[in-house]
Amino acid sequence: MEIEIATIGGYEEVGRQMTAVRAGDDIVVFDMGLNLSKVLIHDNIETEGMHSLDLIDMGAIPDDRIMNDLEGDVQAIVPTHGHLDHIGAISKLAHRYDAPIVASPFTLELVKGQIEGEQKFGVDNDLVEMEAGETMDIGDDVELEFVNVTHSVIGAINPVLHTPEGAVVYGLDKRMDHDPVIGDPIDMERFREIGREGEGVLCYVEDCTNANRKGRTPSESVARSELKDVMQSMEDYDGGIVATTFASHIARVKSLVEFARDIGREPILLGRSMEQYSGAAERIGAVSFTNDLGMFGHRKSVDRAFERIMNEGKENFLPIVTGHQGEPRAMLTRMGRGETAYDLEEGDKVIFSAGIIPEPTNEGQRYQSEQLLRMQGARIYDDVHVSGHLRQEGHYQMLDTLQPDHLIPAHQNMEGFSGYVSLAESQGYEVGHDLHVTSNGNTIQIVE
Ligand SMILES: [Zn+2]
Repeated sequence: MEIEIATIGGYEEVGRQMTAVRAGDDIVVFDMGLNLSKVLIHDNIETEGMHSLDLIDMGAIPDDRIMNDLEGDVQAIVPTHGHLDHIGAISKLAHRYDAPIVASPFTLELVKGQIEGEQKFGVDNDLVEMEAGETMDIGDDVELEFVNVTHSVIGAINPVLHTPEGAVVYGLDKRMDHDPVIGDPIDMERFREIGREGEGVLCYVEDCTNANRKGRTPSESVARSELKDVMQSMEDYDGGIVATTFASHIARVKSLVEFARDIGREPILLGRSMEQYSGAAERIGAVSFTNDLGMFGHRKSVDRAFERIMNEGKENFLPIVTGHQGEPRAMLTRMGRGETAYDLEEGDKVIFSAGIIPEPTNEGQRYQSEQLLRMQGARIYDDVHVSGHLRQEGHYQMLDTLQPDHLIPAHQNMEGFSGYVSLAESQGYEVGHDLHVTSNGNTIQIVE
C-alpha cells in the first residue's frame, strides 16, 4: 500500500498545524490550526468574517491547496486537542471536505464553539466523538486509534493510523505526565505495544516545540505544588491578588480555584475565553466548579464583577483573568491600563501562571503589560508554570518506545528542529533517508 504524508502547515512555525496521511486511496487529515500571531499583528482584524484564501495569504491558516495533489478521498479530519493552532482553521477549511470531524469530547466541544462563531462559511461536517483507547475503521484496510496523552489542555490524544505497512503515529502535542491533575496519565504502555506489534511503527511525526531544551518536562503536579507554595505565601496579605493563566488550561484553572478557597478568597473567572473554556469543561463533566464559582465573559458582566469586588473588598477575592501573554485587549492588560474598576495598589500581587511564548510580538506585549502593572505598585510572580511539550529526554524516550522507521519533525521552524535532528542522528537516523526535515507544502512518499 502506498503511504504518503503531506506536511501542509506548522512545519515552518509553531502555529497553523495541518498534516495529511494518504494510505492507499484513503486520506486522514490531522489538525487544521490557526497561527494567531499572524492575525494579532494587524489591528482589529476579525477572522470570523474572512475568506479562507485571504487568511492563507496572511499565513494565518494552512495552505491546503496541496491536497489536490493527493490521489484519494479524505475520510476523517482529526484535531488532536483544543488549542487554536490545532483547531482554529476548521471553520475555514473543513467544509471543503466530505468527511466527519473526529475528536475527543472536550476537543469536539471547542470545535463546536469555533463553528458556531464562524460567519463566512457554513460548516456542516458530521461531528464524531471518540475517546482515547477507541478505534474507527478508515476504508477497508486502515484503522484509526486514539492514544491518551498529556498536554496543557485536557482531552489531548495522539492519533495512530494502523496501515498494512505499519503504524503512522502523529505525535502532536504532548508531554509525558504520570500525574496530570485532571485525567489519565500518558498511555506509554499502549505506545510500547504499538512499537512492538505487527509491522511496528512506519512513521512518527514529532512535536518539536521544546526540542532544543535539555532534560525532562515536569508534570502538571509540579506546577500545582509551586502554585500552592506561591499562594500560601500570600495567605496573610490583606490586599489584592490577581492570577492569570491560559484559559484552555483547565487543570491549572482548577488548581487556582482550589488554592484561592484554601487561603480564604472567592475565585472569579473573568474574560471571554475563561468563560468559554471552563464552561466547555463543565459541560462535558471534566470538572465541577460548583455553582458558586462566578464566570463572566461579557464586558458588562465583567464590569459588574469588578465593581462587586471593590465594594466587598479585594482581600476577599481572587480574580482569575485573561492576559497572560500581555494581549492588548485582554483583561489583565486592561487592569494594568486602569481601564477597569479594579484598583491596583502598592504591594498587590499578580501571579502569571504561564510562561512567555518565545515570539517577539508576545515578548514585547508581555513586557509592556508587566511594566503597566508595576507602575501601579504590583508585585509580579512570573513563570509559575511548566510547559506542555516534551523536551529532549522525552523525545529520546518516545524514540526508544516506538522505534519508528521514519521520522518527521514538526511544530517548529528550521532552527527549532535542530535539537531534534541532532538527537535523531545520534540514534542512527539520517537526514534525507529516514529523517525527513521538511517545510510547509511538501509531500513525502514513505512507501512507494
Ligand atoms: Zn497544544
